[in-house]
Amino acid sequence: MSQERIYLCLAHMSGNEMQYIQEAFDTNWVVPLGPNVNAFEKDLEEFVGQDKRVVALSAGTAAIHLALVALGVKPGDEVICQSFTFAASANPVVYQGATPVFVDSEEGTWNMDPNLLEEAVKQSIARTGRPPRAIIPVYLYGMPAHIDEIMAIARRYEIPVLEDAAEGLGSRYRGRVVGTFGDYGALSFNGNKMITTSGGGALICPDEEAKSRVMYYATQAREPLPYYHHLAIGYNYRMSNICAGIGRGQMTVLDAHIAHHVHVKDFYVEHLAGVDGITVHVAPEDYMEPNYWLNTILVDPKKTGYDYEALRRHLDSLGIESRPLWKPMHCQPVFRDAPAVVNGVSERLFEQGLCLPSGPMVTDAHLHYIVDAISRFGS
Ligand SMILES: *Cc1c(COP(=O)(O)O)cnc(C)c1O
Repeated sequence: MSQERIYLCLAHMSGNEMQYIQEAFDTNWVVPLGPNVNAFEKDLEEFVGQDKRVVALSAGTAAIHLALVALGVKPGDEVICQSFTFAASANPVVYQGATPVFVDSEEGTWNMDPNLLEEAVKQSIARTGRPPRAIIPVYLYGMPAHIDEIMAIARRYEIPVLEDAAEGLGSRYRGRVVGTFGDYGALSFNGNKMITTSGGGALICPDEEAKSRVMYYATQAREPLPYYHHLAIGYNYRMSNICAGIGRGQMTVLDAHIAHHVHVKDFYVEHLAGVDGITVHVAPEDYMEPNYWLNTILVDPKKTGYDYEALRRHLDSLGIESRPLWKPMHCQPVFRDAPAVVNGVSERLFEQGLCLPSGPMVTDAHLHYIVDAISRFGS
């Protein structure tokens, strides 16, 4: 049992993927467009609903970048971004020559604090004389944000919203899939996300017109002429028809994956309830249904007698992968000069949190082994 290493979230295939890949080979659609790409986009459009359009892309980072391009973010602009996230939420702001303004998290969801957001908007207006060009809330570890409150502020100041739902595929807020509340929503299908295309992403767009605009930029901004004619700078960001074949297969198990991650959450909640000083992160509101992409715990060293790093090393020695939470962007040397509105929440979470194995390859036997390892440590 303790021999094989237990990972956070390994890829898990449905068994249907090879059939779509074989079709691509048989028909020689081994290119970054084709039937799998179109069908995968259709599957995603059906899944997210709300009459949205979806563009399949080479990465979640590309999706965030293209949304900023579509929103006209340019040098000199400020873009508000959740601080507690992976760097890929913020890096595309810099690709556009704009400045990220980081906003700290609230206690309940660990996502963008709406009060701090409004403060950041006011500060940005005072600095630049106009509202920021976009707001990027994140669904960290699949947890919904207080998106109604965030959207209300965005509407009041007429600022577009790009939801970073890279970790939140299939999470719901008041029954509606996250990534469909703002102007754009970014998804990721990297190897360790809810579903994988090996590497890939998608952008949820408001309508057909926005979708064609995003496709245009994703395919080198080519004009509809027989020769290559360019009026804008484009990108090579389209998803390969092979990867999209994997995506079509993965869509057949997305609901099962989500159910599994929720089951893992329930297991941790039940079996860690008696461990003083360990708290499992769960939805703070009953209208939030996270996908529980990575299940996370906070370690209170005053109660446990050890810190998260000691626990991480102990688990590692037993063959269990765990990982510190994302280090906030306002604490990253590379973003040292970026404005930030902080309240200490994400820094404290970073100093106390660990991600635990949660993916579809994690069995109940693994889970028993993991909670035993945590329960026994320090006692
Ligand atoms: C994974 C991730 C991304 C980027 O997605 P890629 O497909 O890896 O480019 C962006 N934001 C967050 C919060 C992520 O976790």
